[in-house]
Amino acid sequence: MISKLPDAQTSIFAVMTKMANECGAINLAQGFPDFDVAPKLIDRVHHYMQKGMNQYAPMPGVPALREAIAKKIDHTYDVSISPDEVTVTAGATQALFAAITAIVHTGDEVIFFDPAYDCYLPTIQLCGGVPVNINLDKNDFSIPWDEVERKITAKTKLIIINTPHNPSGAILREDDINELERLTRGKEIYVISDEVYEHLIYDGETHSSVLKNAELRKKSVAIYSFGKTFHATGWKMGYTIAPSDLTEEIRKVHQFLVFSVSTATQWALADYLEESDHYEYLPDFFQQKRDVLLRLMEDSRFKPVTCRGTYFQSFSYAAISDRPDREMAEWITKTHGVASIPLSPFYTDHSDNKQIRLCFAKSEETLKQAALKLCQI
Ligand code: PMP
Ligand code: GLN
Repeated sequence: MISKLPDAQTSIFAVMTKMANECGAINLAQGFPDFDVAPKLIDRVHHYMQKGMNQYAPMPGVPALREAIAKKIDHTYDVSISPDEVTVTAGATQALFAAITAIVHTGDEVIFFDPAYDCYLPTIQLCGGVPVNINLDKNDFSIPWDEVERKITAKTKLIIINTPHNPSGAILREDDINELERLTRGKEIYVISDEVYEHLIYDGETHSSVLKNAELRKKSVAIYSFGKTFHATGWKMGYTIAPSDLTEEIRKVHQFLVFSVSTATQWALADYLEESDHYEYLPDFFQQKRDVLLRLMEDSRFKPVTCRGTYFQSFSYAAISDRPDREMAEWITKTHGVASIPLSPFYTDHSDNKQIRLCFAKSEETLKQAALKLCQI
């Protein structure tokens, strides 16, 4: 059989989690919390299951949830959107697949930034798109806008951004969003803004959503995940926000991918979104965890990379070893009992800057045990 994705390998998240389980290592690799979903939210899901909300939801999502999402966007970003611009998806991964597939035709160029979240490239390839990758700055992971300007051609159809950024923890600011608006002005170039970590942002920074830029918003798809916001990565619930012409095309793909997603969970999320306290505590909650990890690692030979958002803290191990990062992550897992994610698999050109990523969405006890082991290296 001729593979449609000849270069795709098993995701590094699956590889490192499997290795962690086999070695009994602490898993700071794949990004998921080791604490549970709020009992109140679980109760709501149970409630709606018992009430009989167990058959297909409407294709675009339960109206009550789409309304609750529109209210949340208004409350968070002071931006008015219609529930008709919201499509509820099976996590951000499916949202990304539906959005990229809706936009990209064979031969269209798609600009994205490395290190990039792992599903962008294969999805572009499956659509027959031409990937145009640009490496973020090696030191601060900022976007080199002059290079973006040079790489925009008549064939550029889509630019994918991600803020706060996985795996680096860098963020885009309003100036970046304005620059993106300037570079795409008057051109038929769409933007997908992966904002799954919108509430995981620290040190008093605020999230620069693409939705806040009135011009850019007209040609953008913003993508979110309840997995990140409510510590429920296993529920695979997310959504897209896009203007109606784009939403219409996204829904055409969405309906043939999954048609609709868990009905009871959508009703439960609609209730749970009513109280903004349920997500507004997140910056403080996760910043404290980041700071605990940084403090615990002060005695180690790992050097932290600045993290302003997400629940990932990357470290350079250049002072310890010059092994390739994949090999280093594997060695630490097997010999020191802590699993991490190397950064090179996120680069199209496999750049290896001797960095590994640790997930700090963990209890303080887990972070302590992991840091104790890492400090011995
Ligand atoms: N985008 C980014 C940047 C991510 O880190 C993730 C992983 N959580 C996703 C998309 C996919 O999210 P989901 O688990 O909701 O599919
Ligand atoms: N987003 C998670 C991470 O970056 C992993 C998601 C997955 O395993 N596909 O670790």
